[in-house]
Amino acid sequence: MSDVVVLGSGFGGCLSALILQRIGLEPVVIDRATHPRFAIGESSTPIADRILRDLAARYALPRLAPLAAYGSWKRTYPHLGVGRKRGFSYFYHHPGTPYVPEADHANELLVAASAGDEACDTHWYRADVDAFFADEVRRAGIPLLDDTAVRLWPEDAGWRIEGTRHGAPVRLRTRFVLDATGAAGVVPRALGRAASAAGFRTHSRALFTHLIGVRRWPEMLAERGGAVAEHPFEADAAALHHVFDGGWMWQLRFDHGVVSAGFVLDARRRPERPGEPPEAAWQRLVAAFPTLREQLDEAAVAHPPGGIRHTGRLQRRVRPAAGPTWALLPHTAGFVDPLHSTGIAHTLAGIERLMRLLAAHWGRPTLGAALSAYDAALQRELDLIDALVAACYAASGTFRLYIASAMLYFAAVTSYEQARMQAPSAPDRLFLGADDDALLALVGEALARLQDLTRRGPATPAAVRAYEAFVETRIAPYNTVGLFHPALPNLYHHTAARP
Ligand SMILES: Cc1cc2nc3c(=O)[nH]c(=O)nc-3n(C[C@H](O)[C@H](O)[C@H](O)COP(=O)(O)OP(=O)(O)OC[C@H]3O[C@@H](n4cnc5c(N)ncnc54)[C@H](O)[C@@H]3O)c2cc1C
Repeated sequence: MSDVVVLGSGFGGCLSALILQRIGLEPVVIDRATHPRFAIGESSTPIADRILRDLAARYALPRLAPLAAYGSWKRTYPHLGVGRKRGFSYFYHHPGTPYVPEADHANELLVAASAGDEACDTHWYRADVDAFFADEVRRAGIPLLDDTAVRLWPEDAGWRIEGTRHGAPVRLRTRFVLDATGAAGVVPRALGRAASAAGFRTHSRALFTHLIGVRRWPEMLAERGGAVAEHPFEADAAALHHVFDGGWMWQLRFDHGVVSAGFVLDARRRPERPGEPPEAAWQRLVAAFPTLREQLDEAAVAHPPGGIRHTGRLQRRVRPAAGPTWALLPHTAGFVDPLHSTGIAHTLAGIERLMRLLAAHWGRPTLGAALSAYDAALQRELDLIDALVAACYAASGTFRLYIASAMLYFAAVTSYEQARMQAPSAPDRLFLGADDDALLALVGEALARLQDLTRRGPATPAAVRAYEAFVETRIAPYNTVGLFHPALPNLYHHTAARP
């Protein structure tokens, strides 16, 4: 009988297993795949780095700490694929019209998250990073059964797990299952609780791939007269967003030249065309935006083997996300959208909360109640992420509305970061401040205003100003980094929280 079977050996499952061992439990990790393998979800953030650093220190996992910043990553693990992420950059495109940078930066937004390359965030080349985490699990002597397909059944005091590995039977009994399988949701399926999109206000779908040969965006801006010298960082050393009405494209550039690229579309306004292959849908989108077409003119698919991948609706959640003998990591419990790069950070925040509660309540009658609280926290966090993301989609027809809506996220994340820094040993705050009723209400109200405003057709200049004033006024209690007041319009050189 093992203590905990961790299903899924992505970084989330592996990190959980490493910590479980540190708190005195005996984990076993099972994955149906083998490393290295293609995976999406690559862009870290300051809060993700901070949590990773805190976990590495608290649980004596020093080999993980260098992954928490670009400089230490490059020095310590130069063989692990990585990209520089100095912040978030956004460029607004109109279909059929070449992108021309405006002198007053009106069609761009750059928000720095760090002051330099050494301490900056990273893009995780997941094939390498997840394989590294899996190696760490094996180094720690934790059994990791890869290439293993299992089925599981709840029992009175735990679970029975059966499957096959390389043709041989696998049979296990465990007290607890931690499900880190993401969208596969093995435990919810075993319990007959399918994930649902009900209640989400975001309604998006994605097409994504890894490319080589993508032209550097700052060079293209400079060729078009863009004042790139005024930018706080190189626009593609970032989570680069090409935004347009009803969607956006992400580009994450790795040092070895691969660029992770994906379109995320409001599926109500840009639905999938029945029967259209993903490659054709991709080409149609690229062709609609002349400067994107030029940027991707020489690009070729590097991974995954099947070419462009596409998804159905991205939003899903399972309720509840935990029971007395099981828990779901955040990416299994639910997902909203890649916008705002919340995935890695939310996964780390969930691991942090779950490991603290397992350490405190394992084997005690209080475990069930603690797991219910974990579920409640995750659901509130998904609600907040959903509203923050939905506001940006609702605003995507007018870039000024979009910028003001993005400020809701930046206000939430920077104030959450500061709260953590003031009380690093007690991260009781929910992710992004989702425990704050006033914040949830504010973002919900912003979304309702946007929906009302855009329902009546294109936003008038007066309506745009009124929305900006609403957001600026209402985020004031959370705005300690000068949002809405950069020295140059739309260029934020400093938003990193300082101790
Ligand atoms: C389109 C898209 C874009 C995203 N972009 C970003 C981003 O830019 N930034 C960000 O922070 N996050 C992003 N995310 C979220 C990010 O992918 C997740 O937060 C992250 O992958 C969670 O890691 P994980 O290890 O918990 O789970 P996963 O990465 O989902 O790993 C799941 C593991 O479970 C295994 N598995 C699956 N089925 C089974 C089974 N039946 N039995 C055993 N094992 C199984 C898989 O092989 C895999 O190893 C994105 C997500 C999507 C869908």
